[in-house]
Amino acid sequence: MGIVPNKSKECIFCKIIQGTLPSRKAFENEHVFAFWDIAPQAPVHILIVPKHHVDDVLDVRPDQGILFQQLFLAAQQIAGQLEIAGSGFRLVFNSGDHACQTIHHLHLHLLGGAQMGGSMVG
Ligand code: AMP
Ligand code: ZN
Repeated sequence: MGIVPNKSKECIFCKIIQGTLPSRKAFENEHVFAFWDIAPQAPVHILIVPKHHVDDVLDVRPDQGILFQQLFLAAQQIAGQLEIAGSGFRLVFNSGDHACQTIHHLHLHLLGGAQMGGSMVG
């Protein structure tokens, strides 16, 4: 799967993947790109994005389920590399207004590096 050209034109995460916008890279393989969040909400706050542009969780078709697999497998590897697998971490997808989604390129937040509160909706 390549990056969908029409959608990628104005998408800042597509630009980050393509290297035309700077980012602090955390991980990359054939399928995903991961980088440090510009406004971190935890000592470790990484965004894991598929190289193939999809707007949102809701837009992943059943035949594209492998995208989720690729994001979660990357999260495993990054948590290991950053040595937070043992202490614990949180994985979050925001979708839509109530979840305050701001970027419409599917991304998985990986948060960790310090004790978090029990509430996920604060
Ligand atoms: P969401 O609210 O789930 O759409 O999350 C979007 C995330 O992207 C936020 O946590 C932002 O801080 C982050 N973000 C926005 N622009 C950039 C950027 N240029 N580099 C890194 N992270 C960014
Ligand atoms: Zn995009």
